[in-house]
Amino acid sequence: MRSVRPEIAEMLRDGLTNVQIARHLHAGPKTVAAARAALGMPPSKTGRPPEPSIAGSLAARSRDVGDGHREWTGAVNRGCPVMRIHGVRTTAYRAAWISVHGRPPVGYVAPGCGRPRCVAPAHMDDQLAREHHRRTYNAVFGGSR
Ligand SMILES: [Zn+2]
Repeated sequence: MRSVRPEIAEMLRDGLTNVQIARHLHAGPKTVAAARAALGMPPSKTGRPPEPSIAGSLAARSRDVGDGHREWTGAVNRGCPVMRIHGVRTTAYRAAWISVHGRPPVGYVAPGCGRPRCVAPAHMDDQLAREHHRRTYNAVFGGSR
Protein backbone atom coordinates (compact mmCIF):
# COMPACT_ATOMS: atom_id res chain seq x y z
CA MET A 1 0.00 0.00 0.00
CA ARG A 2 1.22 3.49 -0.83
CA SER A 3 1.93 5.73 2.08
CA VAL A 4 -0.44 8.64 2.52
CA ARG A 5 0.71 12.01 3.73
CA PRO A 6 -0.89 12.53 7.15
CA GLU A 7 -2.00 16.09 6.30
CA ILE A 8 -3.77 14.82 3.18
CA ALA A 9 -5.51 12.08 5.20
CA GLU A 10 -6.57 14.65 7.79
CA MET A 11 -8.04 17.03 5.21
CA LEU A 12 -9.80 14.18 3.44
CA ARG A 13 -11.47 13.24 6.71
CA ASP A 14 -12.50 16.89 7.10
CA GLY A 15 -14.46 16.49 3.88
CA LEU A 16 -12.43 18.79 1.64
CA THR A 17 -12.41 18.14 -2.11
CA ASN A 18 -9.34 16.87 -3.97
CA VAL A 19 -8.87 20.25 -5.62
CA GLN A 20 -9.10 22.16 -2.33
CA ILE A 21 -6.56 19.86 -0.70
CA ALA A 22 -4.23 19.90 -3.68
CA ARG A 23 -4.31 23.68 -3.79
CA HIS A 24 -3.74 24.01 -0.06
CA LEU A 25 -0.84 21.58 0.11
CA HIS A 26 0.62 22.34 -3.34
CA ALA A 27 0.14 18.68 -4.22
CA GLY A 28 -1.15 17.24 -7.47
CA PRO A 29 -4.88 16.44 -7.57
CA LYS A 30 -3.92 12.92 -8.69
CA THR A 31 -1.81 12.49 -5.54
CA VAL A 32 -4.82 13.44 -3.44
CA ALA A 33 -7.12 11.17 -5.44
CA ALA A 34 -4.65 8.29 -4.95
CA ALA A 35 -4.51 8.99 -1.22
CA ARG A 36 -8.29 9.00 -1.12
CA ALA A 37 -8.39 5.60 -2.83
CA ALA A 38 -5.61 4.22 -0.57
CA LEU A 39 -7.69 5.17 2.48
CA GLY A 40 -10.70 3.40 1.01
CA MET A 41 -12.68 6.64 0.74
CA PRO A 42 -15.15 7.24 -2.12
CA PRO A 43 -13.98 9.56 -4.94
CA SER A 44 -14.43 13.29 -4.49
CA LYS A 45 -17.93 14.29 -5.51
CA THR A 46 -16.96 17.65 -6.89
CA GLY A 47 -14.11 17.10 -9.31
CA ARG A 48 -13.78 20.80 -9.94
CA PRO A 49 -14.82 23.77 -7.81
CA PRO A 50 -17.97 25.63 -8.89
CA GLU A 51 -17.49 28.29 -11.54
CA PRO A 52 -17.11 31.65 -9.78
CA SER A 53 -19.86 34.14 -10.54
CA ILE A 54 -19.10 36.99 -12.93
CA ALA A 55 -19.55 39.48 -10.10
CA GLY A 56 -17.18 37.44 -7.94
CA SER A 57 -14.55 37.29 -10.67
CA LEU A 58 -14.80 41.03 -11.18
CA ALA A 59 -14.52 41.77 -7.46
CA ALA A 60 -11.47 39.51 -7.18
CA ARG A 61 -9.71 41.40 -10.00
CA SER A 62 -10.47 44.95 -8.98
CA ARG A 63 -10.21 47.16 -5.93
CA ASP A 64 -12.43 49.77 -4.37
CA VAL A 65 -10.91 53.21 -4.99
CA GLY A 66 -13.71 55.23 -3.42
CA ASP A 67 -16.72 57.15 -4.74
CA GLY A 68 -18.15 53.89 -6.04
CA HIS A 69 -15.34 53.35 -8.56
CA ARG A 70 -13.54 50.02 -8.88
CA GLU A 71 -10.08 50.03 -10.42
CA TRP A 72 -9.23 46.99 -12.54
CA THR A 73 -6.17 45.08 -11.32
CA GLY A 74 -6.45 42.10 -13.69
CA ALA A 75 -5.14 41.48 -17.17
CA VAL A 76 -5.11 44.32 -19.71
CA ASN A 77 -5.03 43.98 -23.49
CA ARG A 78 -4.29 47.17 -25.51
CA GLY A 79 -5.35 49.30 -22.57
CA CYS A 80 -8.61 47.46 -22.09
CA PRO A 81 -9.32 45.28 -19.02
CA VAL A 82 -9.91 41.70 -20.15
CA MET A 83 -11.08 38.52 -18.45
CA ARG A 84 -12.79 35.23 -19.22
CA ILE A 85 -16.41 34.32 -18.65
CA HIS A 86 -16.93 30.57 -18.72
CA GLY A 87 -13.71 30.27 -20.70
CA VAL A 88 -14.57 32.96 -23.24
CA ARG A 89 -12.33 36.02 -23.44
CA THR A 90 -14.15 39.32 -23.15
CA THR A 91 -13.63 42.80 -21.77
CA ALA A 92 -14.16 43.34 -18.05
CA TYR A 93 -16.51 46.21 -19.02
CA ARG A 94 -18.75 43.80 -20.87
CA ALA A 95 -18.59 41.30 -17.99
CA ALA A 96 -19.49 44.06 -15.52
CA TRP A 97 -22.41 45.09 -17.69
CA ILE A 98 -23.74 41.52 -17.90
CA SER A 99 -23.32 41.01 -14.14
CA VAL A 100 -25.92 43.70 -13.40
CA HIS A 101 -28.14 43.80 -16.48
CA GLY A 102 -28.31 40.09 -17.21
CA ARG A 103 -28.48 40.81 -20.94
CA PRO A 104 -25.74 41.33 -23.49
CA PRO A 105 -24.93 45.00 -24.13
CA VAL A 106 -25.75 46.78 -27.39
CA GLY A 107 -22.57 48.02 -29.05
CA TYR A 108 -19.43 48.45 -26.99
CA VAL A 109 -19.40 48.93 -23.23
CA ALA A 110 -17.28 51.58 -21.51
CA PRO A 111 -17.33 53.18 -18.06
CA GLY A 112 -19.64 56.19 -18.24
CA CYS A 113 -17.99 57.70 -15.17
CA GLY A 114 -14.95 58.64 -17.27
CA ARG A 115 -12.49 57.03 -14.89
CA PRO A 116 -10.01 54.88 -16.88
CA ARG A 117 -10.24 51.16 -16.13
CA CYS A 118 -13.15 51.58 -13.73
CA VAL A 119 -15.14 48.33 -13.76
CA ALA A 120 -17.86 49.30 -11.24
CA PRO A 121 -20.88 47.50 -12.74
CA ALA A 122 -23.14 50.49 -12.03
CA HIS A 123 -20.83 52.75 -14.08
CA MET A 124 -21.02 50.73 -17.31
CA ASP A 125 -22.80 52.22 -20.30
CA ASP A 126 -23.60 50.48 -23.57
CA GLN A 127 -24.79 52.12 -26.78
CA LEU A 128 -28.42 52.34 -25.61
CA ALA A 129 -27.44 53.78 -22.24
CA ARG A 130 -25.25 56.45 -23.89
CA GLU A 131 -28.08 57.45 -26.23
CA HIS A 132 -30.44 57.57 -23.27
CA HIS A 133 -28.03 59.82 -21.34
CA ARG A 134 -27.70 62.09 -24.39
CA ARG A 135 -31.47 62.41 -24.80
CA THR A 136 -31.87 63.11 -21.08
CA TYR A 137 -29.10 65.70 -21.18
CA ASN A 138 -30.64 67.39 -24.22
CA ALA A 139 -34.11 67.34 -22.64
CA VAL A 140 -32.77 69.05 -19.52
CA PHE A 141 -30.22 71.46 -21.02
CA GLY A 142 -31.46 71.76 -24.59
CA GLY A 143 -29.42 70.98 -27.65
CA SER A 144 -29.52 69.09 -30.87
CA ARG A 145 -30.84 65.56 -30.94
ZN1 LIG B 1 -16.44 54.53 -12.08
